[in-house]
Amino acid sequence: MHGKYNQLQSETGSDTALGLNGPSDAPDDSNDWEQDDRPREACGVVGIYSPGNDVARATFFGLFALQHRGQESAGMATSTGNEISLHARMGLISQVFKEEDLAELRGHLAIGHTRYSTMGGSKQHNAQPLIVDGPRGRIAVGHNGNVINAGELRTELSELWGITFDRTSDTEVIAEMFARAPGRDWFEVAWYAMRRLKGAYSLVIMSKDELIAVRDPLGIRPLCLGKLNGGYVVASETAALDNIGATFVRELQNGETIVVNKDGIQSKIWPAARKTHSMCIFEQIYFARPDSVLNGQLAYDSRRRMGAELYKESAVDADLVIGIPDSSIPHAIGYANASGIPYGEGIIRNRYVGRTFIAPDQRMREVGVQMKFNAMRSIIEGKRIIVVDDSIVRSTTTVRVIGMLKKAGAKEIHVRVAAPAVISTCHFGVDMATMAELIAANKTVDEIRDHIGADSLSYLSVDGLKRAVDVEDDSYCKGCFTGRYPIPVQLEMDKLALEPASV
Ligand code: SF4
Repeated sequence: MHGKYNQLQSETGSDTALGLNGPSDAPDDSNDWEQDDRPREACGVVGIYSPGNDVARATFFGLFALQHRGQESAGMATSTGNEISLHARMGLISQVFKEEDLAELRGHLAIGHTRYSTMGGSKQHNAQPLIVDGPRGRIAVGHNGNVINAGELRTELSELWGITFDRTSDTEVIAEMFARAPGRDWFEVAWYAMRRLKGAYSLVIMSKDELIAVRDPLGIRPLCLGKLNGGYVVASETAALDNIGATFVRELQNGETIVVNKDGIQSKIWPAARKTHSMCIFEQIYFARPDSVLNGQLAYDSRRRMGAELYKESAVDADLVIGIPDSSIPHAIGYANASGIPYGEGIIRNRYVGRTFIAPDQRMREVGVQMKFNAMRSIIEGKRIIVVDDSIVRSTTTVRVIGMLKKAGAKEIHVRVAAPAVISTCHFGVDMATMAELIAANKTVDEIRDHIGADSLSYLSVDGLKRAVDVEDDSYCKGCFTGRYPIPVQLEMDKLALEPASV
């Protein structure tokens, strides 16, 4: 059974047949009125090898559990053992895959990807998995993270192997490297890549008959292993395993490569990998689902502990603790439990306001955040409110929420942020803002308090965050809070650096 990739590829011999460079690119972010100033995660990945079972549907539902990690495009590659089929498009997972698409994606081997771009534009040709051909055959690659030396490697590989790069993401550099790098097996190939790639990369890769999973030597982005129907699953988060009924086995270690094929599963760690991980601490604060386990800790529990630490550091007398829904609710519950001040839902979020391509008119823009949040006057009016937020990046959402609470009659508003101030940008797969846009990089805490219109403002300290996550483990990347990163970085990076000047 031929999938779309093979059918169209054989008919035309060109990726254009997939629409990869065609006019079907979705509108860009300029119409995305809904985006707020939360940092945005790069991607989610899933890979399944389950002999005797068609795995496209399980891969779809695994991806569905990871939709929060990227909403620009999604895709899946599958194999029966003979050839790779591909379906990748712009849009949400539920928009990208229809029943008939899944019916064509046959085979016991699959990788899936959901993308938010951190390097390379939000274009169909950068939708993943990417397929490339090399001496060891065709492979498909899905990537979560950001390779900071992709530009240099692109030039180097073009000269070394005569490659013409026709997409504009760092993932294409990774894919070409895995397709062509010297090595007797996938472990040697991965180690060749690990010696050269700098930055964050949790990868799912497939050949026509093998599943390969790789976590970078710093372990910046999460990746976990599970068992399913006599086979194996790898996914960005444990919540994806839960969603498809897989049993969690363990998280991959930094520098680890796993190969699953007809002979079973094998794993090796790159000998030069650091002994300790540098996982992104923002995964614990905000990115990962609260029901995912990261570095052995349920993110929901870590977030409640952040709220409790925040109370210890910045107690204030008040009548009610609320969280900015949905992501700050565990932190707010932790603060309320530690303080003894009642927790309540003062703001309701419209959970069905997702990404839309219908732009509001000017009058609606002025209504702004009310389309997403609504404050309940009878809960708020006349009360001293502690508003717990999980992060402030630019502050636009915080300003609107405080305005809404004031309008609903709050007597006092005390903002407590369950993370340290974001003073520097991310280089490892998170799109935050530029240094000029980061409010805490440019204003003092008092200035920010005045800017957002709160009666008081406090952030969790870096030490408080470390205590909340794990007292024993201080190896997490905390670069956006400290300006110190696990590896040297160039302070401002352009996510479109690999785009041609005319694009
Ligand atoms: S800089 Fe911040 S967001 Fe980026 S990986 Fe490090 S902790 Fe995470």
